[in-house]
Amino acid sequence: MSRFVVGLTGGIASGKSEVTRRFEALGVTVADADVAARTVVSQGSPALAMIAERFGPDMLQADGTLDRGRLRAHVFAAVAERKALEAITHPAIRQLLHDQCVQAESPYAIAAIPLLTEAGGRDAYAWLDRILVVDAPEALQLARLMQRDGSDVVLAQQMIDAQASRAQRLALADDVVPNDGHPDALQAQVERLHAIYLQAAAEA
Ligand code: ADP
Repeated sequence: MSRFVVGLTGGIASGKSEVTRRFEALGVTVADADVAARTVVSQGSPALAMIAERFGPDMLQADGTLDRGRLRAHVFAAVAERKALEAITHPAIRQLLHDQCVQAESPYAIAAIPLLTEAGGRDAYAWLDRILVVDAPEALQLARLMQRDGSDVVLAQQMIDAQASRAQRLALADDVVPNDGHPDALQAQVERLHAIYLQAAAEA
């Protein structure tokens, strides 16, 4: 059981996955908010029933699964509707991440939450013992995003602009992994933090 939990966040294409898999390679359990977001609306889940009740039964497909495209189109650009959806999904996501982290067998666990800043930060996730931010300059995010996803510069910039700012994310950080060099440079940073987190977990 892990009593010590690190929240890991960072902007799009900042290198979160690169950092996360290095922690995983050291044996640390990582609970992923993107995966949790899909799990909590899986067929038959309480959150899915709440979505059908709030947004209408036609948000479900004939087989009882969520019609993601339809729901996305419905909440897109409708702030109140998006907030209503988040009021259903976010508590469920937080609970699932918390449970997965607490049940982890590694000495500490990581909750990877890409949109931690946007989703209420430390107030919403008071059970995080530390927050680690993977940080890259916007120009590098843009270049990596275009290369990874094949997005054009306009779309890539829009995706970056839709997120919290670099400064807003860094304001939450207890620890920062700068990712503005070669990916190999991440390993030493991860190992340094791993040692610190193991120590902290042992003392928790
Ligand atoms: P995130 O998970 O934060 O969205 P990724 O870890 O997927 O970001 O990184 C975005 C892209 O940039 C990936 O294709 C990844 O391989 C690449 N990348 C990450 N870090 C570096 C780096 N230091 N130098 C060059 N490319 C990198």
